[in-house]
Amino acid sequence: MLIRTFEEYQAAYQKSVDDPESFWAEIAQEFLWRKPWTKTLQWNFEEPNVKWFIGGKLNITENCLDRHLATRGDQPAIIWEPNDPSEASVTLTYRMLHDQVCRMANVLKRNGVVKGDRVCIYMPMVPELAIAVLACARIGAVHSVVFGGFSAQSIADRINDAKCRLVITADGAYRGNKEIPLKGVVDDALMGCPSVERVIVMTRTRTPVSMLKGRDVWMEQELKQVTADCPAEEMDAEDMLFILYTSGSTGKPKGVVHTCGGYMVYAAYTFQNVFQYEPDGPTGRQVHFCTADIGWITGHSYIVYGPLACGATSLIFEGVPTYPDCGRFWDITDKHKVNILYTAPTAIRSLMGFGLDEVEKHDLSSLQVLGSVGEPINEEAWHWYDDNIGKNRCPIVDTWWQTETGGILISPLAGITKTKPTYATLPLPGVQPILVDENGNEIEGNGVSGNLCMKFPWPGILRTTYGDHERCRQTYFATYPGLYFTGDGCLRDEDGYYRITGRVDDVLNVSGHRIGTAEVENAINMHTGVVESAVVGYPHDIKGQGIYAYVIADQMPADHDADLTKRDILATVSRVIGPIAKPDKIQFVTGLPKTRSGKIMRRILRKIAEGDTSNLGDTTTLLDPAVVDEIKAGAV
Ligand code: ATP
Ligand code: MG
Repeated sequence: MLIRTFEEYQAAYQKSVDDPESFWAEIAQEFLWRKPWTKTLQWNFEEPNVKWFIGGKLNITENCLDRHLATRGDQPAIIWEPNDPSEASVTLTYRMLHDQVCRMANVLKRNGVVKGDRVCIYMPMVPELAIAVLACARIGAVHSVVFGGFSAQSIADRINDAKCRLVITADGAYRGNKEIPLKGVVDDALMGCPSVERVIVMTRTRTPVSMLKGRDVWMEQELKQVTADCPAEEMDAEDMLFILYTSGSTGKPKGVVHTCGGYMVYAAYTFQNVFQYEPDGPTGRQVHFCTADIGWITGHSYIVYGPLACGATSLIFEGVPTYPDCGRFWDITDKHKVNILYTAPTAIRSLMGFGLDEVEKHDLSSLQVLGSVGEPINEEAWHWYDDNIGKNRCPIVDTWWQTETGGILISPLAGITKTKPTYATLPLPGVQPILVDENGNEIEGNGVSGNLCMKFPWPGILRTTYGDHERCRQTYFATYPGLYFTGDGCLRDEDGYYRITGRVDDVLNVSGHRIGTAEVENAINMHTGVVESAVVGYPHDIKGQGIYAYVIADQMPADHDADLTKRDILATVSRVIGPIAKPDKIQFVTGLPKTRSGKIMRRILRKIAEGDTSNLGDTTTLLDPAVVDEIKAGAV
């Protein structure tokens, strides 16, 4: 179903609320099912227990591959752009991809993988990564992709949590001018992973690796032993499709579980509608470039499953936005005539910093839609993206969603929903947001803010956290009984537009006043000498919580200036918000601990502010773990 006008959006929305089951049944009917479902939805948010398309049988790879062969067999399914632009890019048509997925699936079978087994995938951003993911799905194995930047310990934790039987990896990975020895990291991880019987190693960097007899095999040699004939396993709609561990900006990683039927329908529906993907329509919108890694949910839903289920051409980029220069995204856009570009505010802000020289060297006229995901996009970045990349002619879709939601929940539909900078705008049809106060009471009307929850399930909602259903209940369904709690704070403005304001655990309570960390940060950032800041709370005898601010100044102030600068910052905050919001402590730092998706890992800053640095938890998901030591050393 492609919604084409705002009136159609409104009608679809209304229908999705009045009669959700027939709304989703109609959408799900567009897919290839081996056997139709008997009941569309059964749910409660108490246990929780959510099931979609009950009794339906399918295989997601038949939807992503087989059913396109007749009409799109020779159309590119994947375009791969290597880290080094002088290496040739690779195009795989739907027919070629189908063939390779079947071969890889046969390799898995040959190595003892059966339906229901968990397979860990730790690979570079190469086509074989997407192929490995789809090969698992083909035979009903559950994939658990671990981002290729994680440490041995993080991999081991994830493998043990899911009891993976097999690991697919590569000798190494290229990222910018770095070479990461993936197989070596896997070897370290596997010292503590008794469940793993087999490791399949792809050749990418030709880094020397040790191959353990009886455990490790080369992918290339295995592929020589198999045919391309691999019928898809028949899966129940509610069979597990994959586990994906959340990045962990709020603690121990959770294995979020998604299932075959609902996830497929939701990933495809959101891809098609949000990006207004219509290859055969007047726009000829076809080539989709999502810059996320397949190791994150964004890559699962909008590099692999969503685009392929819709028959799009999905671009996979191996490298980083700044290699060999900061024009790489624009070079790729030009070279492959990208129509849809989907990236993160953190990337936009970092590229903004390099000015327009590199942007202007490239022809970006193929672009039709721009997307943003991962964190709130600030107004300055939004306008820079709009003016310089979209040249004010490409709608920007600011897409809000989570690993747990499987796909986008709140977002404009490209070119249809009127956009407003920093606003994710309106819920997609089928999505029922609700704002509640701390006590779980609904906050009605517009021009209000509160905690963002969902009151009705959508097909892509997580079903459980692997091996620990109680944790799933506790984390998402216990705070406000009867609701799915997103953990995000949200503003609904006078037009009913939604703006995500950040995690609600980012709210401080200072002497009984609720103050958002973002509010204080914005005020601090208004000071001319400040580049960026992060604010957390720490226990304070008198106020309950004190405010601790980590500040990056454009010049690290020398001791005698530091006091003066601090006083200026306090004066600024006092003027902008009020004396109540004045930080009790200010520490100048040169960097902040950020996850690879650009989120500040506040739990680390909180611990340092509390003076408890003994156990900072997993820091391997940080872009630059070294900043933590520097911050620890300079704590005030
Ligand atoms: P963890 O749950 O382990 O702490 P995480 O929440 O960082 O990790 P994700 O599921 O990738 O992992 O991120 C979802 C969160 O990202 C949302 O809850 C929200 O805070 C933020 N987010 C994503 N997209 C947007 C957006 N368009 N605008 C504002 N915030 C966004
Ligand atoms: Mg989260």
